Order: sequence, then C-alpha cells, then structure tokens
Amino acid sequence: MKITILSIFPEMFAGFLDTSIIKKARLKGLVEYELVDIRSFSKDKHNRVDDYSFGGGAGMVFLYQPVVDALAFVKTPKSHVIMMAPAGYLFKQKRARELKEYEHLILICGHYEGFDERILQHVDEVLCIGDYVLTGGELAAMVVADAVTRLVDGVIAEDSPQEESFENGLLEYPQYTRPDTIDGFTVPEVLLSGHHEKIAQWRRKESLRKTWKYRPELLEKIDLDKKDRQYLEEIVLEEDKV
Ligand code: SAM
Repeated sequence: MKITILSIFPEMFAGFLDTSIIKKARLKGLVEYELVDIRSFSKDKHNRVDDYSFGGGAGMVFLYQPVVDALAFVKTPKSHVIMMAPAGYLFKQKRARELKEYEHLILICGHYEGFDERILQHVDEVLCIGDYVLTGGELAAMVVADAVTRLVDGVIAEDSPQEESFENGLLEYPQYTRPDTIDGFTVPEVLLSGHHEKIAQWRRKESLRKTWKYRPELLEKIDLDKKDRQYLEEIVLEEDKV
C-alpha cells in the first residue's frame, strides 16, 4: 500500500514517519509514504496558496489550483482521494479497516479557514477525525494514516487488532502487566488463574463495563446476548455501589 500526503507543512510528518510502528512498516516495505508539498505547485510569484473568501468573512481559503495540480501529479487510476475536514464523515475503525484495502490513498491536508469547495470535485471522500477544529489537516492525516497502517497485513501481530476497542463494537477490557501488586494495587485474581474461559468471561464483562461507562451509545449498535445482558445488569448494580 502507498499513502501520499499533500500538505503545505510536509516537515510535520518527519517524527511521525520515523518512529515506532510506522517507521517499521515503512522500512519493511509494507507501506510506502510519499509527502508532497502543495506550495511547490503554486503558480503565484510569491508562492501563495491562499486567498480571501468570496462573500467576506475572517480567514483565508486554500486555492483550488495548487491543490488540484498537486493531486494530478500524484494521482493514478488506483488512487482513493481523501480530504481531511471537520465537515466530513466521522472517521471510525470500520472505515480504517476498509481503507487498508486500497492500493493508494491520497490524504489532502487543508489549512486556513478551509479550502475552495470546488476541490471536492476531485475528491472521493471527506473525513473528519472528531468533533473539534484543528489548525490544519496534518494531524488528522496522521491519525488516518496511522490507523490504516497498523491494520495492513504484517505491520503488527496478527491477532492484536481483532481484540481492540471498536473491532467488536465495544471498548477494550482493562489490561495489566507485572508486577501483580504495586503500591497496594493488585491485578484481578482471575487474570493470574490461567483459566482461559474465566479470563475470557471476565474480559467480556469488563469490556461491557468500559463501554457502558464511556460510550453507552455503542451498546445500542451491537447484538447483546443473554449473558451480556446479565453482565450489564450486574455492572449497573456494581457501579451504583461505588
Ligand atoms: N473553517 C473550517 C470549518 O469550520 O469546518 C475549519 C478549517 S480548519 C481551521 C483547517 C483545516 O484543518 C481543515 O481544512 C482540515 O483540513 C483540517 N481539520 C481541522 N479539524 C479537522 C478535523 N476535526 N478533522 C479533519 N480535518 C480537520
């Protein structure tokens, strides 16, 4: 897979591309990254890539021409073009899993107050990473690139993503590592029991607890069986006592 990022601040990606799993994915040749500076496509003698907004209002708007020319430079028939913007579909784990199937993703990072809407004629999808406004699309593009990269075959341990938050519609259960007691805090006994079935049951219940606590709306979107419902009843009573 190849991920191309169009930005006026490609230098922001240096640390991102050179650290941890993203670096390994790159060095193993599993994911190729390409950074393209939109500004180098400006036809303005001062290399400007923004202008005032028609209709007035505060802030500048990303020009159509440099973005579309940069896109034309990198795009192939296999490319899937994504614009990062608050006014877009909310990016979720399910979409990350679908995006990893593309051979080539192009992520466009907006800036200023936004971009000339006509750029969207060249875009397949608009993604928002959350209900807040960032100064530019770079961090948003890193979020998408990271979430997709770690799902690419061979990038991380095979079974690791299956168990994670959102993969089965729930948040992940709590995790613990050594030592089993620290500062008087102990690891739940069942995790030390070696009893796989009991551990799985405990994890399911705690996964439901986290989801109930932090993201209750997710519980409405998944099929809960009888045991899950029983766990939830217990959780409500247990949490009431706390
Ligand atoms: N005026 C725009 C609005 O209200 O929707 C916000 C523009 S924001 C200051 C500049 C750029 O940052 C956007 O064009 C987009 O590329 C990026 N951006 C900001 N927040 C984002 C988010 N939550 N998700 C994805 N991209 C975002």
